[in-house]
Amino acid sequence: MSDQTALPSDVQGWPASPPHELQDFYSLAIPELERLLLEWGEPRYRARQLWKWAYARGATRFDEMTDIPKELRSRLSARFSLATIESLASVSEPDGSATKFALRLGDGEVVETVLLKERHGYTVCVSCQAGCPLGCVFCATGLAGFRRNLAAGEISYQVVHCAREARRANPRSQISNIVFMGMGEPLLNLDACLEAIDRVCRPEGLGIAPKRITISTVGFPEGIRRLAAHPAPLGLAISLHATSDRVRAMLMPAAGRVPLRDLVAACEEYARRKGARITFEYLLLQGVNDSEADAHRLVSLIGQLPTHVNLLVLNPVPGVELRPASPAAFMLFQRILGRARIPCTIRVSKGVSIGAGCGQLRGALTAH
Ligand code: SF4
Repeated sequence: MSDQTALPSDVQGWPASPPHELQDFYSLAIPELERLLLEWGEPRYRARQLWKWAYARGATRFDEMTDIPKELRSRLSARFSLATIESLASVSEPDGSATKFALRLGDGEVVETVLLKERHGYTVCVSCQAGCPLGCVFCATGLAGFRRNLAAGEISYQVVHCAREARRANPRSQISNIVFMGMGEPLLNLDACLEAIDRVCRPEGLGIAPKRITISTVGFPEGIRRLAAHPAPLGLAISLHATSDRVRAMLMPAAGRVPLRDLVAACEEYARRKGARITFEYLLLQGVNDSEADAHRLVSLIGQLPTHVNLLVLNPVPGVELRPASPAAFMLFQRILGRARIPCTIRVSKGVSIGAGCGQLRGALTAH
């Protein structure tokens, strides 16, 4: 990330946020909100009205909720805040194709979220952890270490914030897709991720179709099996990046402890139960995993699965010495996968010049 395009340099130098005496409204699940309103003698449907204001309309104050009785608005304002999570800063690509936001959570942790402009609507790339414990050697988040899991409200709020920002540019803007490709590993915080997905998919939430949400993971078999058993038709993307256990363990020290055969077996189960195609992400790295033998091993490994392969170009990350593979290696992989009838796309991340590409998010604006 170059200094000119980075978000303001160091949030640790920013004034500390005032202590939050009010509870974050987004920390509530809808059943909790219903219970509270019933205790207060309010009808159950008020919960859905409030939910719609907070999630679908992105209200920042209870005062904006004009169809909620004034006394209830005052009572809510005395106890909750809709603005516990603060937007510290944002930076956009000059052509508007990507904007990265730094959000400060209630306890001061900072996470990054990316809004990507697509041909039809917007995609939000959400973070599910502050940092990441997995330490993949090509990833700024991994290099910066792990701080904590995010709660469901902190994950879903990132989508609310991005939807609000997109509407600011164009009131008719819609969030069409969500990808769990920001900071952190979703399968290590799966309950919160699934709860966040439920919130944004609800019709009174943001009404996003589950099939437009992709969980991107290094692939822990137990988590893949949990996802396979989950009723929502979520997309699954596996960060594979190697065709041998040895190279994978070198690139992804924690994830690489899972043997590739166990990972592929869990993917087979997922594909069978869901009737879904799995995306495999493969970061092509010069002299590491870009040989002709690698391409053939990749075909042997995943050729039996309904799949799509994304060949990724390494994004620059300070301190990472690896180099992207040559254009010839990309063509070679494409040719060998094509011959095996495995659909394959060469992907270049959006937002690279603003440090918003895959592997570039680092949180705390100092440092998948
Ligand atoms: S690539 Fe993903 S799993 Fe690996 S360190 Fe980065 S955020 Fe964590």
